[in-house]
Amino acid sequence: MTDSVKTIEVLIDNLDGDFDAFAERLKAEQIPHLSFSQITTVEACQYRYYLQYVLGLDPEPLPDYFTKGKLFHQMVAAFYRTETGKRDDVRTRAFQVLADDNTGESRRHLENAYLVHIDHCWQDYEVISVEKPFVMAVDPALPPCVGVIDLVLRKDDRIILVDHKTGRDFYPHDELQMSIYVEYMRRMFQDASYEFYYDQYRWVNNLSRIRKPAFQRSGVRITSCNWDSALERIRRAWRLIARIQETKQAPRYGECFRCPYRGTCRR
Ligand code: SF4
Repeated sequence: MTDSVKTIEVLIDNLDGDFDAFAERLKAEQIPHLSFSQITTVEACQYRYYLQYVLGLDPEPLPDYFTKGKLFHQMVAAFYRTETGKRDDVRTRAFQVLADDNTGESRRHLENAYLVHIDHCWQDYEVISVEKPFVMAVDPALPPCVGVIDLVLRKDDRIILVDHKTGRDFYPHDELQMSIYVEYMRRMFQDASYEFYYDQYRWVNNLSRIRKPAFQRSGVRITSCNWDSALERIRRAWRLIARIQETKQAPRYGECFRCPYRGTCRR
């Protein structure tokens, strides 16, 4: 599996800033890897894993939260990639793109989330990286883990990792994601201390009429034992994935009412 690490490192070096292309290139070039999304998908439903990662199908119809969430991430990434003094221009351009490409509710959701983001953005922090792709060997018997860290900041001797989430509501976080990210950061910059935050944005139509907050920031404590339990979870998921890849069969289960693949699954 070491070859995969080297192949993915070269891929990252050649992405030329187009980090949206990371997942597509891994898929197109069939480079063995594991990601947080793959692991949580196979845990939720093995058949969904089969549809999504073995057959490579997109959900039909494509839920609008897929495209909305992706667009919001791109807007926030553009914001943090821009020097503080020029961020008003970024906002103007972002709203212009929304006006041109989105209508009705989607546009209101995105505009409101962006306004909320500006109110809660990480001011006075040094931006170390935005949408940072990485690869990390985790176990000689497993494919390497890959991921993209939304935002890495620094203030004095603190390193702050931020993940942006969007949705109709705020959802509980999953420690596996931050354990993978923090393990990677620890290997890169051994001596620093890390803090991890989820910045969650709720889609709202009208900011002046909401009864509960449109934004929630939650910090997560990472302890040294997190990586051991994370690794055990990764190994369990890999055993399921390897079996699905070998047999091309997977049981159907899971919370179908919230599964984006339910239209495809029952055909
Ligand atoms: S609809 Fe249900 S059984 Fe089908 S892929 Fe989704 S979770 Fe699995």
